[in-house]
Amino acid sequence: ARPETTSLATVGLTKRFGGVTAVDGATVSFHHGKVNALIGPNGSGKTTFFNCVTGMIRPDEGTVTYRDADITGKAPHRIARAGVGRSFQLCRVFPRMTVMENMLVAVRSTSLRRQLSSARNAEELDRARGLLARVGIEHLEHSLARDISYGQQKLLELAGVLMADPETIMLDEPAGGVNPALIDRIATLVRSLNAEGKTFIVVEHNMELVMGLSDHVVVFDRGRPICEGTPSVVQSDPRVLEAYLGI
Ligand code: ADP
Repeated sequence: ARPETTSLATVGLTKRFGGVTAVDGATVSFHHGKVNALIGPNGSGKTTFFNCVTGMIRPDEGTVTYRDADITGKAPHRIARAGVGRSFQLCRVFPRMTVMENMLVAVRSTSLRRQLSSARNAEELDRARGLLARVGIEHLEHSLARDISYGQQKLLELAGVLMADPETIMLDEPAGGVNPALIDRIATLVRSLNAEGKTFIVVEHNMELVMGLSDHVVVFDRGRPICEGTPSVVQSDPRVLEAYLGI
């Protein structure tokens, strides 16, 4: 097989919280242009890993690179500018803004007033409408974010991430708390965006979704990878079963 091109990668990444080592010398590399998944039992360090590589928290040790550029300890907006977008486990939208306002703030870092006034920028509105249509919620443009379903809020968050046109998209539990019909829609979206060249790194508990969607799966246990490979390789690895059974 031809060697994979590296997307996001870490070497010896470590993060401690007091006496707890949440991420323990993790050396991981995800594949550019692929759908990558990060799985593992509860408390295995996936969220902390995600937060370290996206600049939400600073690792104690180790390095993070994206497409070979060192992004260790960089602020979230700088990592975003390098081409990495992310969603959050507990979906982050502004509840008292409309769906469209959420789309327009998603891509800006200036003051809210300026964001809303420059929203007249027709090109940006068009782009936002196109992305809302793509995720299937264009009819909700004028609704307040708090009035749409949780699954629709997750689709809105994804559409907002797409506003910045990131090369790589990190999704933290995209199917969590979402009904089966919308899970299918999210899966279809990930597939089509990946076919257009976007790399995905997904933390997800829904095994059926992970195994059906991913090209490359990394399994975490106790803060570091214990196994990686295609879904079929990972599913038949006894270490993975042991980790999940807590033996
Ligand atoms: P996962 O996402 O795989 O469930 P986490 O990264 O949330 O795992 O947690 C890994 C370990 O780190 C757990 O033991 C958790 O209790 C601990 N941990 C995570 N965040 C904090 C924090 N802010 N303060 C203290 N301990 C934490």
